Amino acid sequence: MKYCTSCRKLHNDNEETCTQCRKALKTVEDENTPVFLISAEGFEKERIIAALADEGIPTDTKRMKKDNSAKAVTGVDMSDVNILVPYQAYEKAYDVCVGIGAIKEENEEIIDDGEYKESDAKPLDRQLEEINGGSKAGRIILAIMFLVLAALAVFGTDAITGFISKLITGN
Ligand SMILES: [Zn+2]
Repeated sequence: MKYCTSCRKLHNDNEETCTQCRKALKTVEDENTPVFLISAEGFEKERIIAALADEGIPTDTKRMKKDNSAKAVTGVDMSDVNILVPYQAYEKAYDVCVGIGAIKEENEEIIDDGEYKESDAKPLDRQLEEINGGSKAGRIILAIMFLVLAALAVFGTDAITGFISKLITGN
């Protein structure tokens, strides 16, 4: 596993630079390396840190922007912070965040998106097939009806019965 030394997000070993900071990645060697878990602000941040503390996971925070104007007004620090956890506790911390709804399971969302795309595409294909097939069948039916009417006019009903039986049996 690799991590970004700037934002401390975890990355796969096959990645070379941070997708967010474009900084070179470093391999995690120390199990206690603080890694990025989630960014949050105000009460959400407090809620997440408290939930992690309940599970015995220590946290560190890294301020994203230096804006203390909100704190001056509300007495609550509303600026975004990155919540960092030791690398070895990352998975558990992630699960805790999913459990309290702070993190949505990205994998599920991706699968859902895939399903939506498929289900959107398939009916469209089917619709096109139905439109094409339908109009083709419609033209054939119209042609047969025309022949039947023409035969009725020219030969009478007996000929039509024979004509239809020929259509069906192919003789
Ligand atoms: Zn980064």
